[in-house]
Amino acid sequence: MDRDQLTEHLKFAAELGVAGLSRDPAWRARGSTGSPRADEPGALVPGPSKGEHPAAFHTSQAEALVAVRTGIGDCTRCKLHAQGRRQIVFGVGNPNADLMFVGEAPGADEDIQGIPFVGRAGQLLTDIIEKGLQIPRKDVYIANVIKCRPPGNRNPEQDEVETCEPFLFQQIDIIQPKVIVALGTFAARTLLRTLDPISRLRGRTYDYRGAKLIPTFHPAYLLRNPSSKRDVWEDMKVVRKLLKSEV
Ligand code: URA
Repeated sequence: MDRDQLTEHLKFAAELGVAGLSRDPAWRARGSTGSPRADEPGALVPGPSKGEHPAAFHTSQAEALVAVRTGIGDCTRCKLHAQGRRQIVFGVGNPNADLMFVGEAPGADEDIQGIPFVGRAGQLLTDIIEKGLQIPRKDVYIANVIKCRPPGNRNPEQDEVETCEPFLFQQIDIIQPKVIVALGTFAARTLLRTLDPISRLRGRTYDYRGAKLIPTFHPAYLLRNPSSKRDVWEDMKVVRKLLKSEV
């Protein structure tokens, strides 16, 4: 890892709430001596083996997310890395969020800023979260199925989804949100493993990886079809109810 990469990595860790690093040899040795105590400051420790919960060896969700991001590296696993993407757009928000939004893939603005949903559709999503649900955007978690921008904003292809979706699943399993909102046909189809369109999928609540999943229209679709905002508002009322419920 060169200096720039290390700086980016530390910035990313700080944004997620990782308190800091220590040069104390005892601190550095923690990773090789089994599970750290929950009350110790965090260190990145070896990842879980297949079948174990991704957060199993980490002191917090923030650190577990950093470990997933570190594992992705400067990804070249699928062809998108060679098709003009500037950077990986991992995800943003509260690692302990009760509410998570999942979109399709970064667009041009997200590719430049490295943050999901920052363009026009992103502004509308922010309004849905902050004005509609009355939750600060920083308190939810936002990610995409695909972490790199497809050229010309084309739809992600099957091999790209298959390569990238495990990282989203790890994010969900670490954050363990109460409610997941799948934004648009693509995210809903990928998560629910169906070919049904969003118009057929929305209006119902699905059990998904320990969370309740609500499919709704993608904000980019709402920009073109403002009359569907009414349906999204109905979906957000269900989200609000689920967030308040004990289950
Ligand atoms: N559309 C998406 O699905 N994700 C983004 O991050 C931005 C636009």
